[in-house]
Amino acid sequence: MSDPALSGADWWNANQQNYPNSAEIADLAPAFATAVGGFIRALETAGAIVRVSATRRNRQRVYLMHYSWKLAKGQIRARKVPVDRTVPIIWDHGDETASRKAAQEMVELFDIVYEPSLTSNHIFGKAVDMSIAWSEPMNVRNARGREVLIDLPRSDARNPRLHAVGATYGVRKLLTDPPHWSVNGH
Ligand SMILES: [Zn+2]
Repeated sequence: MSDPALSGADWWNANQQNYPNSAEIADLAPAFATAVGGFIRALETAGAIVRVSATRRNRQRVYLMHYSWKLAKGQIRARKVPVDRTVPIIWDHGDETASRKAAQEMVELFDIVYEPSLTSNHIFGKAVDMSIAWSEPMNVRNARGREVLIDLPRSDARNPRLHAVGATYGVRKLLTDPPHWSVNGH
């Protein structure tokens, strides 16, 4: 790990690539990876097009995003940001205005639009963001081996039968977050 350096755009450019998120099923927690794999196989067998956009979120990346946001918004003082010994960043520029400005640079580079949760299921490899598309009625085998007819609405976010099939695999829909499915629906 490099020596700690002051937060801001330069820090982000030099370090952010060390904290990558994943879009691989294999990076999920093993039991949830099996659940998601089974659900996706059943969907693809039935003719759906599945695209996975996010699986495990990097824990240090979430820490950086969470505290950049809080500091930029004035919700925490720079010297109060908890230290993560695995992340070589100095949040406190010795001046609150400068510390907030540097945090705001990182908020913009991370492209954060709302406060990142430190407890998201993504951090623990127990959530997946994906889109599921189908253009005609399809019979999807649930985890109990029964075929379920899924047609309208052709929206992965709004089709309760699709959500029920996912639940048999242990992949549960969060209704308020269109691409998001997880181990417990959160
Ligand atoms: Zn998600």
